[in-house]
Amino acid sequence: MLIANTTVEAVCDWPDGTFVQGGANGIVFVRGTADSYETAFVEVHNDVIGFLRGEGDTVTEAEHAAWAKAQTVLSCESMVKNGDHEWEARGYRNGAGFCKACNRFGTHVFDISEVGVPCYVCGTKTNWQTFGTTPGTYLCEGHCLPGMQEPYWAAALLGGSTTDEVFAFYGFETRARFATLMERFTLEEIAGFLPPEHLKDADFNIRWAWMKDHEQQWADRIRDEHRSDP
Ligand SMILES: [Zn+2]
Ligand SMILES: [Zn+2]
Repeated sequence: MLIANTTVEAVCDWPDGTFVQGGANGIVFVRGTADSYETAFVEVHNDVIGFLRGEGDTVTEAEHAAWAKAQTVLSCESMVKNGDHEWEARGYRNGAGFCKACNRFGTHVFDISEVGVPCYVCGTKTNWQTFGTTPGTYLCEGHCLPGMQEPYWAAALLGGSTTDEVFAFYGFETRARFATLMERFTLEEIAGFLPPEHLKDADFNIRWAWMKDHEQQWADRIRDEHRSDP
């Protein structure tokens, strides 16, 4: 079996159904610093071991590193004793976590309603949408703002396009979400999340700062309304 995205043949005996991909020179950014380094890597995923990644000087070395991690997961002490991994969130607030005993990474191992960040408006724990000028603040699904694409769609609808034209390439879910948004915002308001005309040719950073400010003002307004009429 070839390791996907490489020309290197896998040497370890990965079980059927394991997704194995790699690269000869991946760039890794070191969290919290400006440092980065280049490495060969192999990433592996299946239902039993979850997602894991090995690094090394060559793709084959990286595969061996991934294999060693997989063996640790397969012989997890917690799994042997309790029939499950012993999850800890390690700072993740989206429901993902790691096993204390074997380091297996797992998604959906914690309930968002427990590990999520309190919604800026109502306090319900969520990881639905980040917004505004303070990093790490969130809004829940019920208090969210238009996202990246919705303002463009709203502008197109205001410009006379039909919904079939605007949503031609999107599924039902996308339309449904837009409809939900329209229960709380007018089309003009949604389109108003696009930077105004006079900033059209401005620097990305200026447009970005405008957008974050705009989001913050809206979130503050929604919060005020929520407080006076919860
Ligand atoms: Zn474990
Ligand atoms: Zn909320």
